[in-house]
Amino acid sequence: MNPEYLALLQQAPASTHVDDTWARLCCEQALLALEEGCYAVGALLVDGAGELLCSGRNQVFAVAYSSAAHAEMQVLDQLETKHAHVDRRDLTLYVSLEPCLMCYGRILLAGIPRIRYLARDRDGGFALRHGRLPPAWANLASGLSVVQAKADPYWLNLAEQAVSRLQDRQALRQRVTQAWRGQQQT
Ligand SMILES: [Zn+2]
Repeated sequence: MNPEYLALLQQAPASTHVDDTWARLCCEQALLALEEGCYAVGALLVDGAGELLCSGRNQVFAVAYSSAAHAEMQVLDQLETKHAHVDRRDLTLYVSLEPCLMCYGRILLAGIPRIRYLARDRDGGFALRHGRLPPAWANLASGLSVVQAKADPYWLNLAEQAVSRLQDRQALRQRVTQAWRGQQQT
């Protein structure tokens, strides 16, 4: 990891909040995604015993443009391929940014009961404004708890900065548009 990002992790205050460990790992993944030229979002799944099950990060531009490669999708793919035997009712999904529309749907279909996000996504987040879902989806969503992680403000701010201040959103939007036109760089 580049020294600037590494310093952001190292400057963190001592852990005093219950979710600080997971917040730190989410931010670490988000910074790795940023370094790879992808959206700065990291996610992980924690099991009922409080153990890390898997972690991932946004990989949308990691190879060729992959519209589904959001951080949450990456960890849910790992869950379903490598940890299929795990009881989903015990799982908590931590993510550095409030989930989007696509990931919110996938989280419901995967049977994850708890989302703990670090930063709100006021422009693109869906998890806190799911509003009028179709009945079957509303039924799935009725069992879902979505709240901000209990983490030090340092981590909440870092998660937000990673996708805003540190990230060139315009360049990413251009890359998406190019990919849509079949002009993606590999
Ligand atoms: Zn998403």
